[in-house]
Amino acid sequence: MSNNPPDDTRPLSKREEERLLKAGRSVFSTAFPNPNREGCPSQDLIQTLARDNAQLAQHQDFILHMSRCSPCYNDFARFRKVAQRAKRTKLLAAAAVIVIICVAAWLVVRARHGLPHEYPAAFDMSTQLMFRGLGGNSAESKGPMVLRRGIADLTLYLTPGSRTGPYEVGVLTESERVLITTPGSAAVKGTRPALTARLDVSRLNPGHYLLGIRPPGADWSLSPLVVK
Ligand SMILES: [Zn+2]
Repeated sequence: MSNNPPDDTRPLSKREEERLLKAGRSVFSTAFPNPNREGCPSQDLIQTLARDNAQLAQHQDFILHMSRCSPCYNDFARFRKVAQRAKRTKLLAAAAVIVIICVAAWLVVRARHGLPHEYPAAFDMSTQLMFRGLGGNSAESKGPMVLRRGIADLTLYLTPGSRTGPYEVGVLTESERVLITTPGSAAVKGTRPALTARLDVSRLNPGHYLLGIRPPGADWSLSPLVVK
């Protein structure tokens, strides 16, 4: 190794180092041939310094040597490139690992809970037990509607003369607390108005509920609903 000149004991800043390397590409790489590698440090040390900026900062002697030794300059530049590529690869690998973990976690969650099953379900509302508004009158019923947990593509046949147009469809607790609402719309199908809506009951616990339908702003018309 050559000796440090007395006026150059200040560590190089990163920018200075980069400038040196850049300028070196045209000058240092060829201007200072040292075929016998006199005063050169070991390849191991050059490789370490190319990888480790903190260590490089403590080896001003090497930086100075490199500025006068084209073979060392070229070794350093080559190791540096490899080290930076490895760092980038490591970052990419880390990102890939994170993505893989997320996908695996998602698959586990999906396998455990299952994707909501989507199925068609049709009911004749004229035969359902109907409560008009809060605690209203009841009529004869053929038992409650039953929906399986999942996403029901509902078709609700309304009593003749029911209004068509937009509706709101909801699931309420038996104490009439609204749990789910979804938009629906009624149109005449054949001879009767039918209300269609996509109702997601995949997250409801199995049990007894009320199915509510209402035109916007009106009171709920409620019917017993069982979710299985
Ligand atoms: Zn050298």
